[in-house]
Amino acid sequence: LTVLGLETSCDETAASVVRLSAAGAQVLSSVIHSQIDDHAAYGGVVPEIAARSHVEMIDGVTRRAMSEAGLDWSGLDGVAATAGPGLVGGVMVGLSYGKAAALARGLPLIAVNHLEGHAVSARLGAETTYPFLLLLVSGGHCQLLEVRGIGDMSRLGTTIDDAAGEAFDKIAKALGLGYPGGPALEKLAAQSRENGGDGSRFELPRALLGRKDCDFSFSGLKTAASRLAQTCETEQDRADLADAVQKAIARQLAERSERAMKAYAEAHEHRLFVVAGGVAANKTIRRTLEDLATKHGFAFLAPPMAYCTDNAAMIALAGAERLEKGLTSDIDVAARPRWPLDETRASVDPVHK
Ligand code: ATP
Ligand code: MG
Ligand code: FE
Repeated sequence: LTVLGLETSCDETAASVVRLSAAGAQVLSSVIHSQIDDHAAYGGVVPEIAARSHVEMIDGVTRRAMSEAGLDWSGLDGVAATAGPGLVGGVMVGLSYGKAAALARGLPLIAVNHLEGHAVSARLGAETTYPFLLLLVSGGHCQLLEVRGIGDMSRLGTTIDDAAGEAFDKIAKALGLGYPGGPALEKLAAQSRENGGDGSRFELPRALLGRKDCDFSFSGLKTAASRLAQTCETEQDRADLADAVQKAIARQLAERSERAMKAYAEAHEHRLFVVAGGVAANKTIRRTLEDLATKHGFAFLAPPMAYCTDNAAMIALAGAERLEKGLTSDIDVAARPRWPLDETRASVDPVHK
């Protein structure tokens, strides 16, 4: 099955063609137009600017994805578009474009949940089988999920306040770094280590320690680190604080994932731990989670770097997996600014571990 995917839920206009066969997923093209420059002056994404830019870019980005894939429309089996969650103005642009393309070419339309795209993104780099335990860490979400298959996942835990990516972005801003903050903070933290710095002199709160569930909390860390950022005098101070923050986030992700692994291992023989979403691009976090997975007898998988942050290949793949199961959408399907991933109960109970 060969599917065109469209992604416009935030500040990337993206289109991709993915072929799904018995051998796994093959990315034929993946084009991403980032709007970072349009939003940089505001220190974050401005919804009105984003929606307008998607309108301007979607047609060119899609045509490029088709030509780089070396296909014409008759080579496609379906059109997948992100239908939420996200900024509704942007979602509507990609979804409407997808509807028009599907109608014009007589192709099935597949409305895809953006988070389901992140959930399958690791499958773009390696052949894997369901089920798996997923840590989804992105700009707007931080969740642990039992993923049994496409459209069949349940949540074991979630953040009770901020997402991990949001904490990276806000703390980076307090440190005077640009947007998006995650990659900038990772670079600064590396400087600390190169110069033999030590972040352990900064005391940061450890949230939810010992709590008997798989939830996350980052707002205390965000506030404490932002306050400490004001006390930094030298570049070395700032780098050391960045290192401390990165370690604190990695540690919380690992602590909560460890609880989920213990519960998950009781219900599943096939033990695979996957981390996905923009924060999965962070090397310290990847390494920490890989070590943890190994310690608990789980295989470990993260998406190729290019497919951690927003892209359309993950949307095309989720669309292809849905199409394979006959899960297509009506042409009048609505955009959903809020759309939880899990609509079924978990077979794993993390709370009573
Ligand atoms: P969501 O998927 O929840 O709707 P989003 O689409 O905005 O949110 P993603 O594109 O998946 O999120 O990820 C963007 C987030 O990832 C940002 O918060 C960014 O700071 C963070 N991020 C990206 N690279 C890194 C990195 N190397 N280290 C830490 N954080 C990172
Ligand atoms: Mg983005
Ligand atoms: Fe995302």
